[in-house]
Amino acid sequence: MNTPGRFFPSILLISQLSFLQTGFTQADPKLTRDIFKELIEINTTHSAGNTTKAAEAMAARLRAAGFADKDLFIGGPTEKEGNLVAILHGSGKRKPLLLLAHIDVVEALPSDWSTDPFKFEEIDGYYYARGSSDDKAMAAIFVANLIRMKKEGAVPDRDIILALTADEEGGDFNGVSWLLQNHKDLIQADYALNEGGGGMAKEGKKILNRVQISEKVFQSFQLEVKNRGGHSSQPRKDNAIYHLAHALDNLSKFDFPVNLNDGTRIYFQRSSKLETGQLAEDMLGVIQSPPRSDAVARLSEMPNYNALLRTTCVATMVNAGHAENALPQTATAIVNCRILPGEDPDRIRELLINVFADKEISVTPVKPAKPSSPSSLNPDVIGPIERITQQLWPGVAVIPSMSTGATDGLYLRNAGIPTYGVSGLFSEAGDVRAHGKDERIGVNAFYEGQEFLYRLVKEMAMKTSVKRDY
Ligand SMILES: [Zn+2]
Repeated sequence: MNTPGRFFPSILLISQLSFLQTGFTQADPKLTRDIFKELIEINTTHSAGNTTKAAEAMAARLRAAGFADKDLFIGGPTEKEGNLVAILHGSGKRKPLLLLAHIDVVEALPSDWSTDPFKFEEIDGYYYARGSSDDKAMAAIFVANLIRMKKEGAVPDRDIILALTADEEGGDFNGVSWLLQNHKDLIQADYALNEGGGGMAKEGKKILNRVQISEKVFQSFQLEVKNRGGHSSQPRKDNAIYHLAHALDNLSKFDFPVNLNDGTRIYFQRSSKLETGQLAEDMLGVIQSPPRSDAVARLSEMPNYNALLRTTCVATMVNAGHAENALPQTATAIVNCRILPGEDPDRIRELLINVFADKEISVTPVKPAKPSSPSSLNPDVIGPIERITQQLWPGVAVIPSMSTGATDGLYLRNAGIPTYGVSGLFSEAGDVRAHGKDERIGVNAFYEGQEFLYRLVKEMAMKTSVKRDY
């Protein structure tokens, strides 16, 4: 574990900056835009879409830029759930760097949207479409940047592997998992860059660049109460719905204990410098040992901070009864938990059983949990992220983060590939539209993110030559 001071930004001198840029081609915004548009307009939803088509379109782009067929792999478990793996060969001095982006998208009902979700539209400085932020921006940027590096004739000291994958948002054949099971050699790498991070701006001012190093574990439990039922004209006190309702009411009043890890502690410590007043004080209060209880109480009121402080479990679905005029024989509920990395899902189940405090209720995991341990704050990765953040956006803090949702990072982390969610794609705090209506990304933010990822990949993959230039 690094001490917080260890990876504070080291500012590069302007002369060093110009060295970094020597020999670089310019980005080709038109090509990048065309690739992004093409990728967006191929429907890759689970219901009607096809990621194989998107994978093929991106392979064609790379082929046209000089990638050999042998360095392009398309494969998947079904005809419409294809994944693309492309390799830009390096000298092999170091193990590869993996760039991961999923190319499937969440469903979008055109009638809910102000624009056609499957048409690439530029309006008032934003690109609108399903997938514009999650996750086709990164996918298009990675393709365009690999093309740029290919044109430069760059020979990195490690292979750069791009994986564009299916079924991150849903579906039975998660692309990363499928690749790990069937073609692990293709994506074996020292580290991976993935979604899950990103920049945050407040009223247009860039504040911080988040690097996701861990994520909470998704685990749903099914609660079930059985009852002999009967005629509703002769009710009894033992009622399946009442049992379930009491248990869920107990849950609504319960909070799991606060449990900070190294990453969330640094997150609050650094975020406190970017906030003011009570919020800044409370962020420092929760990282005290023991955490200050008034600070915990106030931060727990805010769902985003509460989710970082502790494991959460919430009722998301209920189903009970079989007729209006009958006593219910079965009542079920789904309680969805987001478990902190390092906490044991079996232990969470035991705690829930205590909270429900009702022997009539069975509590069963819906699917096995997939825990993943955090990636370390490795200076070989965090160092370049901090340097390039300072080159492009001086004064913007780099902050490690834990996703409260799940990403494909967990499969890679569990396969021994440390994974960092980082994009340099900035959006306004509170303007989160991924999975929702009118998803969008700022036009400038998109091209700045492209430059960030270009420089980051180049520095991580050509570190030896960059060092010589210094
Ligand atoms: Zn995503």
